[in-house]
Amino acid sequence: MKKIECNLPDSLYEALMERMRTDKTSCDHIVATALSQCLGKPLHTLFQVSTSAALVEGLYQGAVEVSRLLRHGDFGLGTFIDLNGEMVVLDGICYQISSNGKVAQVEGDRLIPYAVVTRFNAQFSQQYSGLASFAELVSICDGLRASENLFYAFRIDGKFSLVGTRVMKPVSEGTGLKAAASAQQEFLFEEQEGTLVGLWSPGFAGSFSVPGYHFHFLSNDRERGGHVLECKARDIVIGGCTMHEMHVSLPETAEFLKADLGRDPNEDLMSAERNHES
Ligand SMILES: [Zn+2]
Repeated sequence: MKKIECNLPDSLYEALMERMRTDKTSCDHIVATALSQCLGKPLHTLFQVSTSAALVEGLYQGAVEVSRLLRHGDFGLGTFIDLNGEMVVLDGICYQISSNGKVAQVEGDRLIPYAVVTRFNAQFSQQYSGLASFAELVSICDGLRASENLFYAFRIDGKFSLVGTRVMKPVSEGTGLKAAASAQQEFLFEEQEGTLVGLWSPGFAGSFSVPGYHFHFLSNDRERGGHVLECKARDIVIGGCTMHEMHVSLPETAEFLKADLGRDPNEDLMSAERNHES
């Protein structure tokens, strides 16, 4: 969060005071909302390309350019055409982690099939020393969430003694997500400084999102990463924010237009996105 000072005409100042009184809200909130509208930088909005139900049914064709994705957010995760690796969007840059373990920046004209991004702006932040497991991370984040019914973004920076990730390998057209996940590449990294980019989605959003937590890792040297299955850490800072607006960009690919997306994707999502041992 940054602090600014500025001079306002008396009339605007009085109108601001009046709005704070009538809406019982803070100056920070009114100014941030007004600036976000004026500058075209949406706050608290989740921008999503395609849906989790489409992924589960094997729709991995390119739908939206990375440059468009980055206009809607600087923080998030997703995947690539034919599930070729894992996506991390961090500090406004889109990275591809490939199944050979390599990490590369992604050009703006690349098309992607699925991603979720937001403009990350920590509304709360906590420091922790000693994190024993991914399960403990989940319970800490649960304690930081005030609701089961809003979307949350979590950014976790720090020193990780261990990070276990998986990276999807490219699959042939029409392979469902559950089958694709069974052939994933797994990695175990030790002593890494880096960031977990995380999203939490409510259960009711299951046809659009991956319900619960979804974390991707990227090391500070931008050389390692993936979809997080396990982690242990020494010192971390967990920051988070709520998102109460959602913009979904539905693909206009021939495959999406014709697909049968009526099936409940939750069981396949759980199987594809969670640790296979747990
Ligand atoms: Zn993932």
